[in-house]
Amino acid sequence: MLISKLKVIKSHGKQFIPNLHKVTLTQRFRGRPIIADSVDTETIENLVNLCPMEAISREPLAIDLGKCLFCGECQFQYPNTIQFSNDYRIAASKRQDLIVTAQNKDVIEFDHQYVQKYITKYFGRSLKLRQVCAGGDNSCEMELNASMNVNFDFSRYGIEFVASPRHADGIVITGPITNSMAAPLQMCYEAMAEPKIIIVVGTDAISGGVFANSKAINREFLNINRPDLWIPGNPVHPMSFIEGVLALLGKAKRDAKNE
Ligand code: SF4
Repeated sequence: MLISKLKVIKSHGKQFIPNLHKVTLTQRFRGRPIIADSVDTETIENLVNLCPMEAISREPLAIDLGKCLFCGECQFQYPNTIQFSNDYRIAASKRQDLIVTAQNKDVIEFDHQYVQKYITKYFGRSLKLRQVCAGGDNSCEMELNASMNVNFDFSRYGIEFVASPRHADGIVITGPITNSMAAPLQMCYEAMAEPKIIIVVGTDAISGGVFANSKAINREFLNINRPDLWIPGNPVHPMSFIEGVLALLGKAKRDAKNE
């Protein structure tokens, strides 16, 4: 009986990823876009017009990952101008750093100087997070769950989701923040003890996504409270979330050679 169970365990191999810093995703994953250096005006105009999210802007040609659905249409139509790499390291401490230009050929810089000093001081070894689905569609929420599963095992860093804001050091927001969730979100944030952090996860949460112009959302929370980390994706990949949080805590340094 025991021997047969040991055989099953052996046949499954290691379920966990031994080193989260060395993960490489499949080439099919759409992460950091790579934009060509010189693009003619007509192509830029066509790209601006084809993007359903108004995520592509001109002068210079840029993609706002906070608005992008990662649908890949721009890449399909203009493969010589835009290619999505499998680099999942796309989180940023500043909202404007989610705007990718031809300059971001190798990596998206993470501005550690912009991170509030108490974050690494108090949360570097233990961070408890409260997740608030503010009108989300459960896609980002499922990926956040996956970050804690046996494969990714994010809790190995002392980072866990908790059931109450009273036990949390930070809030993780998903969804476009609907009218009905605006007040509960603020109440949840106020219920947390100081100091605390805000992490905004997914296109819907960062910009409102496809609901950006809807009267059914209320994004005042993000105007009156300063987010500490923006993690794009539609939905966010567990590795983007993990690497982003580790970068915020000063535990992950980005350089081109990690690609
Ligand atoms: S991948 Fe992003 S930038 Fe490209 S067309 Fe889709 S939404 Fe727009």
